Amino acid sequence: MTDRVVVVGGGPGGMVLAYLLGRAGIAVTLLEAHQDFDRDFRGDSLHPYTLELLDSLGLADRLLALPHHKARFFRFHTPAGSITTADYGKLSSPYNYVALMPQAKFLDFLAAETAALPSASVRTGANVVELNREDGRIIGVRYRDDAGTHDLAAALVVGADGRFSRIRRLADAPARSLGATTDLLWFRLPHRPEDPPDADVDLFFGRHHYVGLLAGTDGWQVGYSLPKGGYAEARERGVGPIRTFLADHVPWLADRADLLTDFSQTTLLSVDISRVERWWRPGLLLIGDAAHVISPVGGNGILMAVQDAVTAANHLVRDRSDAALARVQAEREHAIRQVQAQQVRLEQRAARARERGRPAAPPYRLLRLLTGIPGARARAARANAYGPTPPQLDLGS
Ligand SMILES: Cc1cc2nc3c(=O)[nH]c(=O)nc-3n(C[C@H](O)[C@H](O)[C@H](O)COP(=O)(O)OP(=O)(O)OC[C@H]3O[C@@H](n4cnc5c(N)ncnc54)[C@H](O)[C@@H]3O)c2cc1C
Repeated sequence: MTDRVVVVGGGPGGMVLAYLLGRAGIAVTLLEAHQDFDRDFRGDSLHPYTLELLDSLGLADRLLALPHHKARFFRFHTPAGSITTADYGKLSSPYNYVALMPQAKFLDFLAAETAALPSASVRTGANVVELNREDGRIIGVRYRDDAGTHDLAAALVVGADGRFSRIRRLADAPARSLGATTDLLWFRLPHRPEDPPDADVDLFFGRHHYVGLLAGTDGWQVGYSLPKGGYAEARERGVGPIRTFLADHVPWLADRADLLTDFSQTTLLSVDISRVERWWRPGLLLIGDAAHVISPVGGNGILMAVQDAVTAANHLVRDRSDAALARVQAEREHAIRQVQAQQVRLEQRAARARERGRPAAPPYRLLRLLTGIPGARARAARANAYGPTPPQLDLGS
């Protein structure tokens, strides 16, 4: 018998959970399929909740010594005008911003901290291919690395292996799609010194498309919206329409739009909003995107995965029974449903506008009215910074 927890997947959810369990002295092994964490366009946003969590663990100062951009404003730019929808500067937190830092840097940092804990280990290049079972209970995993195939026994397996989760499939826990209608093409364009200094997280709406712009330490990340399934057609048309969109709607980027010369410079993100009905099986818990895929619109997939990890750690340090696994889902599901419901509403709105040939942009006057209500921008920032029901870390003494 082992009391080890095996966490499959070293994304934000799995890494935070492995760190918290290791810090509480629980034997934990994290298995990550890739050799490193350096993958492009994984989402780079660390919200105030996450920064405050890291601060409470004594990690924030060292993490934030790494290069990052402090994003304080979310803005919508419509043909009728621009509007600040959320103002993080109004939060009463020392971390009154979203830290935009390449996710690989965040994960490298946490992996090193986790590996340094006596009861924790991190194995990269370890691809989990099977769940091992005994009498219907999951009792460990089989994984492959350069040295061959290995079996690792576990008192509990946590599937934190992301939106295409193999663990979810092996556990026969299908995810139900809630109806995304958009795909996104991501690419990078360089910064220039004369760029607007207050551009942080900005959405630029045109008639049929929008562009999301994310500041960062190594250039602008640009997400160009496509109707779901529209990739082949967009590819046929080439990068011309995207450049034209940038020239028309983000004029200060027009001077470098010609650096986008080919679709090979882009990454297609097939947007998904989905969740599994039951996040656990005897001996197994799913967290993060493995349990519920969050659309990148709103930029809170990392936050939701981190909050799942905190809730899971709160329970698992004391109790790794199936009843505890059910409690993790019970405590997190409401927040996930709320975030996904809002995303589905936005997706449906965009789809309706497309069908009726109406502009993709939200009505400017209504937006102006809503954001003009006293405190509205601070409330919007708070909602995005902490999510609907932020869990407090409680690992006991
Ligand atoms: C293009 C893009 C942009 C995004 N932008 C943002 C953003 O700006 N802000 C935001 O908050 N969210 C964003 N997201 C969403 C965000 O990345 C996810 O919600 C978040 O990473 C989920 O974290 P996770 O830990 O659950 O899973 P993941 O981050 O997906 O991590 C899963 C890990 O499991 C590993 N793995 C998979 N299979 C196996 C296996 N069989 N064995 C071992 N390891 C395995 C993977 O290699 C990966 O490292 C974006 C997503 C994409 C794709």
